[in-house]
Amino acid sequence: MKINLCLLYGGKSAEHEVSLQTAKAVIQALDIEKFAIHPIFITKEGEWRKGPELLEPVETIKELQFEQIPQEIGANALSTILSSEGSQTFDVVFPLLHGPNGEDGTVQGMLELLNLPYVGNGVLSSSAGMDKIIMKNLFAQEGLDQVNYTWFTKSTWEAAPERSYEQVEQEIGYPCFIKPANLGSSVGISKCENREELKTAFSTAFQYDRRIIVEEGVTAREIEVGLLGNDFPECSVAGEIAPKSEFYDYKAKYSDGDTDLIIPADISAEQYTEIRNMATRAFQALDCAGLVRADFFITNEGRTLINEVNTMPGFTPVSMFPLLWKHTGLDYPALIERLVQLALERHKEKQ
Ligand code: ATP
Ligand code: MG
Ligand code: MG
Ligand code: MG
Repeated sequence: MKINLCLLYGGKSAEHEVSLQTAKAVIQALDIEKFAIHPIFITKEGEWRKGPELLEPVETIKELQFEQIPQEIGANALSTILSSEGSQTFDVVFPLLHGPNGEDGTVQGMLELLNLPYVGNGVLSSSAGMDKIIMKNLFAQEGLDQVNYTWFTKSTWEAAPERSYEQVEQEIGYPCFIKPANLGSSVGISKCENREELKTAFSTAFQYDRRIIVEEGVTAREIEVGLLGNDFPECSVAGEIAPKSEFYDYKAKYSDGDTDLIIPADISAEQYTEIRNMATRAFQALDCAGLVRADFFITNEGRTLINEVNTMPGFTPVSMFPLLWKHTGLDYPALIERLVQLALERHKEKQ
């Protein structure tokens, strides 16, 4: 019996394009002897389209003919599509979605209500991991070392912009990083060296979110690990990111050759152990499930700081998370199968 696997991709998010690349790669990697693949494409506007069952590999997902779900059916259409297609039900859903409306617990909540097994993080860890303010507050509560930070709402800033800038200068100083609270792929992030840059950075970040986080900028090596599992996750080897630009921005992430990924990272056994322990504590503090990529800084002074966890990390075959697992002994198709298995195990435990 084939596993009926529903792939949810696209999405109403600034990371829509990234998700398309992921979906294409996953479709190409899946063994069609083992899986019946059911694609569901979410447009940038948030409309859901149902694709045909894939019976053979496709070169490009653009080739697929999508059926548009009538608007008037509204939210019910989603449950109709997801929970039953005539007599056939999906065994498991894989949300290949990044950013808000996909990686943030909203889609996960819908899948919970439909009682469908799904790959990856649940509602709580998805939303906590997506929100950099909440995430850092939970890390602080767990006693994990991280950069100094503060945060603002758009209303506070609009009411008194100068006061907001003064607060940043007093509490954080320069250089600092300004980030929308809920995003990924470095979208909306700026590094600031002075007041002028700070002003522009606030305006930019507030275009993406009504809350922003301001962090102390560190000069550091960037090390990442992948975690895989449910209650007791396994940790991959560590990888290092060496962007050729000022920092690991959107362009560096998605243009070939703009960043070197060094796997395994050249760090000591002690440093690796520390990172693995911190990553596991972060995973458990947020009650993560399935997968997480945990990002760290090793500062020039030798401090290991956690930067963030990503509950649906970049997932193309050339993204860090799959590459880390490849070096750990799990290739891309095997990684996808392991994630599906973890989703089914977790669902069974909940019943
Ligand atoms: P993704 O989810 O794609 O990993 P993101 O949008 O969540 O990215 P961050 O990882 O927080 O964003 O930051 C993006 C990059 O900006 C980092 O990889 C790093 O290069 C740089 N950066 C972020 N915060 C800091 C900081 N406090 N000090 C120094 N560099 C930073
Ligand atoms: Mg992130
Ligand atoms: Mg992300
Ligand atoms: Mg990151």
